[in-house]
Amino acid sequence: MGFFPHALLVGALALTAAAAPNAALAQAAYPAKSITLVVPAAAGGPTDTVARLVAESMSRTLGQTVVVENAGGAGGTIGMARVAKAAPDGYTIAVWHIAQATAPALYENLKYDVVNDFDHLGRITDVPMTLVSKAALPTKDIKELLDWIRAQKGKVLYGHAGIGSASHLCTLILMKQLGVQMEGVGYRGTGPAMNDLVGGQFDVMCDQTTNTTNQIKEGRIKGYAVTTKVKVSSLPDLPTLDSGAIPGFEVSAWHAMWAPKGLPKDVSDKLVAALQVALKDPKVIDRFAMLGTEPVAPALATPDALKSYLAAEVKRWDTVIKAAGVKGN
Ligand code: ASP
Repeated sequence: MGFFPHALLVGALALTAAAAPNAALAQAAYPAKSITLVVPAAAGGPTDTVARLVAESMSRTLGQTVVVENAGGAGGTIGMARVAKAAPDGYTIAVWHIAQATAPALYENLKYDVVNDFDHLGRITDVPMTLVSKAALPTKDIKELLDWIRAQKGKVLYGHAGIGSASHLCTLILMKQLGVQMEGVGYRGTGPAMNDLVGGQFDVMCDQTTNTTNQIKEGRIKGYAVTTKVKVSSLPDLPTLDSGAIPGFEVSAWHAMWAPKGLPKDVSDKLVAALQVALKDPKVIDRFAMLGTEPVAPALATPDALKSYLAAEVKRWDTVIKAAGVKGN
């Protein structure tokens, strides 16, 4: 280095910079404006909660606002159709959940291919669910609740976020295992459904801890059991359904991030890196913990891991849904 004339060194550096102007510019250019994050469920619900926490952290990392837009309806297929058709430029992305895997078996007229029309950015979290009821129900534990449901002989109303949503699937499995029928009341998301449950407009719901934890703790609704095989630390009084009332019962709602198919590699890399930063962000981790969940392991928050997980989930749910004879349209 001591023998390298200064002018030559400067010239060589300038040449190096000039040789890769496009890559450097593309890196610097994205994101040049705010990013729209579509949540295909109503505001105030569990997917919205997960998406907003992640969006806030990603905004800090990317230096641009990640703006959440709620586009609920038809079990999330309206919002995901919009994302599938958006320009693959990194300015439209989505956070959705397990319903991305159930949609193909449920919706015959689905306008997009859940695996091939998206770039898969990474999984986010796997959220336990809870069986809850309106506060006025005369039942004090899971045994009494299930006895009450059986005694109503089909007259119980349950809330859900559309055909194929996590709340819908959880209740379908519950009804099947109990051998009972209940009547569904559909919403654009369990955010608005929760308002009606608190108001006593329907009887029961199976929903994610990210939406039910505070409502249970504050006594606005009753919580009876969790749907995972292990108890949830934010709701230590709730037993698992598996441990007593319904052995073998297990459902949870995984969430992930997608973009329209065909993102430029540098854009995709930036989004994936920002997602991974969000999943290590102490603010996100703390808030998730308060709501009964945690980020997935970093190895699962990757495009490849999400793509293969989704493909396996599509197969798994196809069998369950066809056996249950459920249709979305
Ligand atoms: N958690 C809802 C569901 O049951 C969706 C939502 O409102 O986020 O799938």
